[in-house]
Amino acid sequence: MAKVSINLATGSLQKDEIIVGIDLGTTNSLVAFIDPDKNPKVINDAGKGVLVPSVVHFSEAGDITVGNEAKEYLITDPQNTVFSVKRLLGRSYNDIENYEDFFSYKVIDDNTESLVKIKVGDKFYTPIELSALILKELKERAEHALKTPVNRAVITVPAYFNDSQRQATRDAGKLAGLDVLRIVNEPTAASLAYGIGLNPDETKTIAVYDLGGGTFDVSILQIQNGIFEVLSTNGDTFLGGDDFDRAIIDYWIEKNQLDKSELIKNRELAQQLRLKAEESKKAFSHQSLVNEKIGDIWCTLDRNTFNELILTKVQQTIDCCRNALRDAGLTITDIDEVIMVGGSTRTALVKTMVAEFFERPVHDDLNPDEVVALGAAIQADILAGNRRDILLLDVTPLSLGIETMGGLMDVIIPRNSKVPTKAGRQYTTSIDGQANMKISVYQGERDLVKENRKLAEFDLKGIPGMPAGFPKVDINFLLNADGILKIQAMELRSGVKQEVEVTPTYGITDDQVEQMLMDSITHAQDDVSQRMLIEARTEGEQMVYTVERFLQKNGAYLEIAEISTTQQKVNTLKEVLSSGEKDLIHKTIDDLNEYTRPFAERLMDVAISTAMKGKSIE
Ligand code: AMP
Repeated sequence: MAKVSINLATGSLQKDEIIVGIDLGTTNSLVAFIDPDKNPKVINDAGKGVLVPSVVHFSEAGDITVGNEAKEYLITDPQNTVFSVKRLLGRSYNDIENYEDFFSYKVIDDNTESLVKIKVGDKFYTPIELSALILKELKERAEHALKTPVNRAVITVPAYFNDSQRQATRDAGKLAGLDVLRIVNEPTAASLAYGIGLNPDETKTIAVYDLGGGTFDVSILQIQNGIFEVLSTNGDTFLGGDDFDRAIIDYWIEKNQLDKSELIKNRELAQQLRLKAEESKKAFSHQSLVNEKIGDIWCTLDRNTFNELILTKVQQTIDCCRNALRDAGLTITDIDEVIMVGGSTRTALVKTMVAEFFERPVHDDLNPDEVVALGAAIQADILAGNRRDILLLDVTPLSLGIETMGGLMDVIIPRNSKVPTKAGRQYTTSIDGQANMKISVYQGERDLVKENRKLAEFDLKGIPGMPAGFPKVDINFLLNADGILKIQAMELRSGVKQEVEVTPTYGITDDQVEQMLMDSITHAQDDVSQRMLIEARTEGEQMVYTVERFLQKNGAYLEIAEISTTQQKVNTLKEVLSSGEKDLIHKTIDDLNEYTRPFAERLMDVAISTAMKGKSIE
């Protein structure tokens, strides 16, 4: 039974607001929810079909269509029809440069490092706006089918998506009017759909094999105490069922001795052949021979030949599985479960080869197109608090911190922290009257920020003039469950504050994470001695600054000889600072400190006696 609550203002009954699970796919998207019997169900609004092709068409008149209707325009109006927008989410032009030919619409960018835009007609759209149109369609279908407003959702993304891509997905949700409660990894969702990972006591290592129309990825996940950790991912973003279709078409071209370049020009025939190839591929699930004609072209194919045609492609996916295992530092016997996701895993040869490789039967009972959305709905149900026994957590793979003086990394959230998590620290200024504080955020394990990965940089501006060391700047890191980092900086005395969310321009692969961790181990000793040297140097620089300021302001209270000796000692310290000898720096600092301490005391006495006379100095 769904929970029912009463609206105290109106006295009316209100159903608990539903949270849907959305699989925002490259080719198709769909939405699922938990029905009153507690079962996850995909939404098929008014019989329009469960899968909504992730395609958007813009007409000359300004009408926008999404889904099956828009898909028709892929042939008739390709320039104004956007597909595969997921490939562009959170991407810069640099990221996609080599694949530009793939898109029949115009992908542009004025600055190769910023995020791409898509030009349709004379308008520009961001991938976020385009994804939002797809999400809006899904939201509307869900609202129509469930007869209730849908405002909250869980959206899935591939495990290899970086922060920028995750943030873009979240923004698309927001733009579509959805409160995105969580971004969930697709393999995590698939695993939940099979009930794997729902028991907090279970420890399992699973492989999720996802072969769609145009993309392939495999993820190795470790599930422990309800935490899903992605150990590795591998794949090919341009390998999928479409390649099977192309292999069939090439075979027919050869058998019928057709001229390929002629065929490409005859768009309609090419499209008919493509559809026939896909239909034949699907037919092999229940028949062993296809024998049909398009015009005077014979489209003949038997299952064995089909298997031969696609063998190298399937073999490629198996190679990726092998690499993923290697990257996770595991062998086949470590894998407890294998889950099949994506329409192309219906192909018999794919199932056989994957099962053979992992030496175990694969999970393929659920519809492979729906499994991710179903899992997202389960995750949504968990977040709605309907399954209190389950807690799903993720951990952050690399430490997060900020740059402090001397280019040192000051870790705020250490690696392997469970997310969501919040941590903060207080900082201050190093120069008198400093109005701005540059806050540079880094990710990584090394002591020097230059060896880590920069995520963001911003200035906390407008700190009111105060002596160095007076302002209190609280810096808080909030890492939400999607791995998105919010950084807040606030000067407590003045209330000046600044907040940023991290959307780094470039992503980071698992290999890079691993490399960063390895480097931190190999360089651990060097890093520690470097850190100590830099800390000594920073302390020395601060000392030079403070003493010189003291001389400037309070020279009148010192003897000439005292001033010159102090200046001499400051000069010695300045020289020693670049010596690279930590102990010598410390010794020189101590010496200067020792010599100048009485001056400060003398000044205090003067200040006190002056204050007692009702005057103040400075
Ligand atoms: P997805 O991107 O996950 O929606 O997968 C779509 C791909 O699955 C397309 O290449 C379809 O041709 C393919 N597909 C759908 N049904 C079948 C089937 N019965 N046998 C083989 N491939 C299929």
